[in-house]
Amino acid sequence: MTTSPAKPRHAATVGFPVRDGQLTIGGINIDRLAARVGQTPFYAYDRRLLDERVSLLRQRFPEEVRLHYAMKANPFPPLVAHMARLVDGIDVASAGELKLALDVGAREVSFAGPGKRFAELRQAVASDILINVESLAEIDRIAEVCEELGLPGRIALRVNPDFELKSSGMKMGGGPKPFGIDSEVIPAALARIAGAGLSFEGFHLFAGSQNLKADAIIEAQLKSFDLAMRLADLAQSPLRVLNLGGGFGIPYFPGEQRLDPAPIAANLHALAASLAARHPAAHIVVELGRYLVGEAGVYITRIIDRKMSRGQLFLVCDGGLHHHLSASGNFGQVIRKNYPAAIANRMAADQSTETSTVVGPLCTPLDLLADRMELAIAQPGDLVAIFQSGAYGPSASPAAFLGHPPACEVLV
Ligand SMILES: *Cc1c(COP(=O)(O)O)cnc(C)c1O
Repeated sequence: MTTSPAKPRHAATVGFPVRDGQLTIGGINIDRLAARVGQTPFYAYDRRLLDERVSLLRQRFPEEVRLHYAMKANPFPPLVAHMARLVDGIDVASAGELKLALDVGAREVSFAGPGKRFAELRQAVASDILINVESLAEIDRIAEVCEELGLPGRIALRVNPDFELKSSGMKMGGGPKPFGIDSEVIPAALARIAGAGLSFEGFHLFAGSQNLKADAIIEAQLKSFDLAMRLADLAQSPLRVLNLGGGFGIPYFPGEQRLDPAPIAANLHALAASLAARHPAAHIVVELGRYLVGEAGVYITRIIDRKMSRGQLFLVCDGGLHHHLSASGNFGQVIRKNYPAAIANRMAADQSTETSTVVGPLCTPLDLLADRMELAIAQPGDLVAIFQSGAYGPSASPAAFLGHPPACEVLV
């Protein structure tokens, strides 16, 4: 066993101060929080960090830019209810998410996603929310629903642009994509909307996800804006909504720098002024998922076993990839890297450390939470914290795989 002094904490973990050698979440020591939750594993989301992240953007963004929360990042109902009070709107991608957005009283709701079922379109039209249309055939289905319900329907066209978001973790625009309508087909889509007598409100462009480069995001916003301005000239009714997407990333891995929102905000000021001059009835929407909630969440799992195998130390925990697929490296990552992690009840500055591999209870080598990381010397009963876990956690994980109990979630 090698021991060395504790290394400085990963920048991503500073939102959770240490007190008496314990991680605190929402100001509560981790041992006490675990007792309060009554079980491990669990996810804890910190209200104060959610508030701070939204106000950081509010302070910098132009007042007329509307901030939306993309619920798929974290659909935990109390968290969505909290976010609904902070942001201007909620973006949903299914009728299930739509129901929750309406239940929590979201001020504005927009609904994107390919393959919306007929029943979902009916629910959307009846709810008077904005539908981001993903294909020409979807326009026809919405027209049918509107006719049946005697309602106008509110439509924006999701555009698949002719460019990509550079250095993005997940590209969702440019080239052939299942998302949106190819930009060259938008004129035909506008004609079809006008022909069907539907209410056209604007455009939605979402180039990609998990981007840590402000320059790349600004470039995508500029290109999206220019494209939308050209397309808006072809519309028969005034532009009201220009959703420029988001794609703001958060730092997960060693060496990644936190995104600086200041230059993006400066660009949005210029775009908002230009939009006001050209389309006075329109506003810009920025839709964000993980950037708003990802850094506010921690996954806590308890060590069950400590074992050596041929010189490698394994800490076997009661939680794993069935709750946290993305931390295991199996949610869209090309190369597996460790999320920031710590032994949450042994965080004193003078704590000795050792190289540990943290695994879950599943009978698969994929169930890996931390691969040979320098962590505090830990024993069964100790708590492992996986940071940057507020987005794409339980709802993005195969909870039924191997039949272990689900993770609990709390908002503190
Ligand atoms: C997934 C998604 C988002 C949220 O992405 P994040 O990387 O979590 O910010 C926003 N808009 C659309 C259309 C999406 O599909």
